[in-house]
Amino acid sequence: MSQIDGLPPLREVIATHDLRAKKSLGQNFLLDLNLTAKIARQAGDLSVADVLEVGPGPGGLTRGLLAEGARKVLAIEKDSRCLPALAEIEAAYPGRLQVLSADALDIDARAHLAPPIRVVANLPYNVGTELLIRWMTPDVWPPFWESLTLMFQREVAERIVATPGSKAYGRLALMVGWRADARIVMDLPPEAFVPAPKVRSAVVHIEALPEPRFPAEAKILEAVVAKAFNQRRKMLRAALKGLVPDTESLLRDAEIDPTARAETVDIEGFCALARAVAVARA
Ligand code: SAM
Repeated sequence: MSQIDGLPPLREVIATHDLRAKKSLGQNFLLDLNLTAKIARQAGDLSVADVLEVGPGPGGLTRGLLAEGARKVLAIEKDSRCLPALAEIEAAYPGRLQVLSADALDIDARAHLAPPIRVVANLPYNVGTELLIRWMTPDVWPPFWESLTLMFQREVAERIVATPGSKAYGRLALMVGWRADARIVMDLPPEAFVPAPKVRSAVVHIEALPEPRFPAEAKILEAVVAKAFNQRRKMLRAALKGLVPDTESLLRDAEIDPTARAETVDIEGFCALARAVAVARA
């Protein structure tokens, strides 16, 4: 029995259910339940919230979340081999764990959750940034979630919290920083996972702001930012060519130097650009 619950240790669970990690599903499992409970605590008091977990795998983080008192956990797992192990956790925490056997990219979890909702996940690396961008770019704000506590490769975590002028600054920092506060709250070495990945990992905690920092339409902002950073070494007047018929006057309308490069423009500047694009296209 483990220290945080009466269930078997994760090594035993993995052996019993023959859960050999699959690379194609981004599977690197956390086996230390004290560590998963610590990750769960980064999301604050969970007894007052429903939690969405993407990719529970054999359930290490799921058990951490439940042991830390989560009101309810909705766990979405693509790999059906994990379902029997997750069913054992469901039985140990009656009525508090719901497992959906599905691809998190295809499913709208909101129907199964009651607010306030927090997202906590050790994300599969292959869908992590895609999900993050989706959670950051709904048409309406505030979003369905109040915070995201997510494990990423350390390098991706650094891109999320990056500031203008730094190498890591780009699409992730802008789309997250526009509507939320983000910080790195934990650092994990490769040995924390089985199998051990090649790189370090980090947990990022993101809290939704009640309103975006500056007005802009999410889809337009996303398109402008993607285009600007697609050729990050070019001056913006060249990088943004084709976005509207007259790129030079677009940049002047947004009060941005046409010879500036994307990595020097802050969130306020990109929002001004997105508004100028909306006006130019109207
Ligand atoms: N949460 C577990 C832990 O911390 O040990 C497992 C984390 S592992 C990095 C990622 C998990 O996401 C795997 O269990 C994998 O099967 C699952 N997964 C991968 N792609 C998925 C998708 N599109 N939708 C739902 N789950 C997915």
